[in-house]
Amino acid sequence: MPASDGRMSPAEIRAFQAWLMDHGFEDSECSFCGHTGGWNTAGSVVQTPSYVASDQGARFGARTFAHVFVVCNGCGHEVFFDAEKLGIVEYGEESDG
Ligand SMILES: [Zn+2]
Repeated sequence: MPASDGRMSPAEIRAFQAWLMDHGFEDSECSFCGHTGGWNTAGSVVQTPSYVASDQGARFGARTFAHVFVVCNGCGHEVFFDAEKLGIVEYGEESDG
């Protein structure tokens, strides 16, 4: 489980990098700039909030989703992966309060 500020431990970063290698991502070409010089593992877990429509436009929902990501060494393009799917975070049971 990452630290409360989202930083991944060295072991979690190594596990993420191993997952990338197992899935052939490390050698993949950036879909934006075509660079093949590798990716930087950011080492942090970030969140994206769910979308909720309202009378005043979109607003943040209560639910968020955790992601880990890599950054293209050529252009800075970022690619995100679901942190739960990779086993880096676990979502607890939701409660009604
Ligand atoms: Zn790129």
